Amino acid sequence: SVNFFSDTAIAHSFTPKTIGRLAREVGLFSEEVEHYGTTRAKVRLEALNRLKTQPDGKYLVVTGITPTPLGEGTTTTTLGLAQALGAHLHVNSFACVRQPSQGSNFGVKGGAVGGGYSQVIPMEEVSLHLTSDTQAVMAASSLVVDTINARVLSESTQSDKVIKNNIIFLSGSVASEMMAVLALSTSLGDMTRRLARMVVAYSRKGKPVTTEDLGISGVLATLMRDAVKPSLMQTMEGTPVFVHTCPLSDIAQGNSSILADQIALKLVGPEGFVVTEAEGGAELGMEKFFDIKCRSSGLHPDVVVMVATVHGLKIHGGGPALVCLSNVCLQNLTLLENGCSHLKRQLENARAFGLPVIVAINTFSTDTDAELGLVCEQAKLAGALEAVPCSHWAEGGAGAVALGQAVQRAAEIPHQMNFLYDLEMPIDDKIRAIAKSMYGAGDVELLPQAQQKVALFSKQGLGNLPICMAKTHLSLSHDPERKGVPTGFTLPIRDIHANLGAGFLYPLVGTVSTGAVTHL
Ligand code: ADP
Ligand code: MG
Repeated sequence: SVNFFSDTAIAHSFTPKTIGRLAREVGLFSEEVEHYGTTRAKVRLEALNRLKTQPDGKYLVVTGITPTPLGEGTTTTTLGLAQALGAHLHVNSFACVRQPSQGSNFGVKGGAVGGGYSQVIPMEEVSLHLTSDTQAVMAASSLVVDTINARVLSESTQSDKVIKNNIIFLSGSVASEMMAVLALSTSLGDMTRRLARMVVAYSRKGKPVTTEDLGISGVLATLMRDAVKPSLMQTMEGTPVFVHTCPLSDIAQGNSSILADQIALKLVGPEGFVVTEAEGGAELGMEKFFDIKCRSSGLHPDVVVMVATVHGLKIHGGGPALVCLSNVCLQNLTLLENGCSHLKRQLENARAFGLPVIVAINTFSTDTDAELGLVCEQAKLAGALEAVPCSHWAEGGAGAVALGQAVQRAAEIPHQMNFLYDLEMPIDDKIRAIAKSMYGAGDVELLPQAQQKVALFSKQGLGNLPICMAKTHLSLSHDPERKGVPTGFTLPIRDIHANLGAGFLYPLVGTVSTGAVTHL
């Protein structure tokens, strides 16, 4: 794509400082840093322990409107904002982002982390190898699959009596849950326990089989012990970045790791800022950020930054989604105003958690002043504290200074964060709460398989887990074709899985596919 070539060329024009220097600048001790080459390092979890009495910095979460084919630039904005705060407003700042998935997106979005003048460098290192966390997850999930296959094979050659208990199928996507585990773990011990309780298969009688039952939980923890440490890199303006884990937003919780955020919050100190990204639209990645990630971490964010683009809103306003980009790029205030109803909906979603919300308009060269003015006006009418056009893609952190200042002001406002639902609510009520208040569904329909699971999980004492909806990220509804603000639909829940390692129930919405066993 065009972006790929411009992102690459721009990234290559910057020289990163050595990782040793960056680590010293952020306050890490040399024994807490494991170097991978000269521009990447893993940070040992001992750092968190050393800093445990240090107060946390301000915690900002960046989310967006429902993504359209060009990408709204939430990652780019996360990095641009961290650059603005760190390199231009001179406060300590850290960005925490997901590692690029080498799955279906690769090549479409270029593989870079961020874009333009707000990227992580060196680009090839962050895009391809990083520090082999993905490879560790793949190795661990292959081990699970091979072990199960070997069991099935050996048991099928044994007597009938044994066959009654044998393993008949694999439960869901092992790799995806392992990545989710990695991202939600708060220590090595926590990760080890989560891996051990992962249900990876069922016996013929329907009895869950964990990795511990298979006798491989210790090996899995060993395979993943380096992967649990966040990887330190930098933006092109030398701002520190943790790039760690890549659970997808549609089939997992869509947020980078808890440990990266926790360490960064200690390192920046009470006057500093950590900017973390919640992938996908606010109804999906942000909802999971609060109800799953923050519940696990105990961290309370201070401000939500909602990224919107003029062309994205035009697509939500009824503009052509895939064809003729130039049409979407021409000024069209009618389409744009229609599309602002989508922004309004996502702003309601963000405000439901009790925090101040700032809209960041990620500007493209084709946006007009009239269009930017309209979006700002609509955003404020819809309850955004401030709405700020930013040009960090074209200008780096300098282009997001006004956003940084807006965020600094918002972070001073006293607030009370709340979750969307109580864990004690019945499973179907939690699903209904998310569907109605986040997606705008009229109702929820649990198909027979899902109803059986609700009964089963409640009986098994799993009713108090949080919910991780597996839903398309391309629409507020379950239908990826429906842009804007779909209303009056009934959200179909096909089935529900329990991911006991990750610690959530996992309803399958509509036709969403959890992909192959190795899907990440
Ligand atoms: P998201 O995190 O929302 O998926 P990214 O930040 O990864 O989006 O950006 C997706 C692509 O869009 C990248 O290739 C990036 O360079 C490009 N992009 C983002 N913002 C802009 C912009 N303001 N102008 C031009 N291209 C942009
Ligand atoms: Mg992103």
